[in-house]
Amino acid sequence: MNASEKREHRERVVLITGAAGGIGAAIAERYAADGAAVGLVDFDATSGQVLAARLGAAGHRVHFAQADVASFGECETACTAIETALGPIDTLVNNAGISPKHAGKPVPIWQMEPAEWHRVVDVNLHSVFNFVRRLTPGMVDRKFGRIVSMSSVAGKAYLDIVAAHYGTTKAALIGMTRHLAGELGPHGITVNALAPGRIDTPMVAGAPREANDAVIRVTPLRRLGKPVEVADACLFLSSSRSDFITGQVVDVAGGWLMT
Ligand code: NAD
Repeated sequence: MNASEKREHRERVVLITGAAGGIGAAIAERYAADGAAVGLVDFDATSGQVLAARLGAAGHRVHFAQADVASFGECETACTAIETALGPIDTLVNNAGISPKHAGKPVPIWQMEPAEWHRVVDVNLHSVFNFVRRLTPGMVDRKFGRIVSMSSVAGKAYLDIVAAHYGTTKAALIGMTRHLAGELGPHGITVNALAPGRIDTPMVAGAPREANDAVIRVTPLRRLGKPVEVADACLFLSSSRSDFITGQVVDVAGGWLMT
């Protein structure tokens, strides 16, 4: 294929991490509706299989692979299973992420357990290396790839509602996006990131009501975002409508923290 040719989602195999719930599930549904074959990766096998069964029953090409995205070996096995079921993966959505809280609150750095720091870095950042490392050889060979990673407005500015590990990893994803965009662009691969504001998912459902209200007050659109609104931006960044966009961070935040 000529690298400048357009390639629509219906011709693609998309791998989405953290696809069993929240934003990831909305992304999977949107790609499936656009005709893509969707590989779902999550460590929550029950929810992942339920979503895969629902998409499969609706006639979509889908495969669920259970993996802890922090483990390179499990990521490799999941990619191989999805490629065997659906074909070469040309679109990667690095969505899996965690933001541990203690009694609904971020833990101060001076009280953070080293194990918690390392786990968040492994899940939020090293996971992206794991999938990019496993999938880019094929993308480079085929001269085509689309990569979208889920950062956060907390990766662009200090937010007191998340802890240091979360803000640090989301900022690192922005740096990684820019580096990879430079390195992979000559090979026909675009790399972009999304920076959601506060989105109504299980990740924020456990937060105290005042925490959501405080964000809504400073969000010009005066509401939380919906997972499907992040999914729509993700699809744009991997679609043929954004073929000349790479190395960018797109806020999906209702105008919160315009940096
Ligand atoms: P969520 O907690 O609702 O869903 C996350 C999914 O990832 C779950 O299905 C979970 O099982 C899976 N997951 C977590 N750790 C995993 C691991 N080690 N291996 C495999 N799967 C794993 O989260 P969400 O709100 O949908 O967030 C999705 C992404 O968007 C995250 O990267 C998050 O940091 C980012 N984000 C969310 C918000 C928000 O307000 N919800 C804001 C900004 C950024």
